[in-house]
Amino acid sequence: MSQLEHVVEVLRPAPVITPDNELYWAAAREGRLVVQECAGCGERHHPPRPLCPDCHSPDQVPLETAGTGTVYSYSLLHHPQNAAFEYPIVAVLVDLDEGPRILSAMPGLDPGAARIGMRVRVAFAPTRDGGQVPVFEPIFSATALHEGAATNATGNEDAP
Ligand SMILES: [Zn+2]
Repeated sequence: MSQLEHVVEVLRPAPVITPDNELYWAAAREGRLVVQECAGCGERHHPPRPLCPDCHSPDQVPLETAGTGTVYSYSLLHHPQNAAFEYPIVAVLVDLDEGPRILSAMPGLDPGAARIGMRVRVAFAPTRDGGQVPVFEPIFSATALHEGAATNATGNEDAP
């Protein structure tokens, strides 16, 4: 028996479900990204919580997002390492277009390509229990390419 026959794909651990976050993770299993919207004051929040941090209302409803946003900041995580992840992890804070800021990761991204302000959209990574969790991937739109070209044109005449 070769060593390769012992290699198994190690998947991400499943999220820990609580009464507060159950709606969030159930939506993720279905490929949807939701945040909480307060029925009392209309503010939107993430992560899920039992009471609104602004008006203390317990009436929180899930709001389905488009899954798009902008990277507010990022960090490259090297340690401690877990076999379920590839390192460095590109950990990102994403400002969703609906408002809330969400902590996630961009597992398919070259760490050197991470940028503050880059446009991203949600994707889903499988977990050990057959579920999935939200992660993000870059959006390379025609608009973004055009804006990049405009920046190069004004900032560097040698740019292609
Ligand atoms: Zn509220």
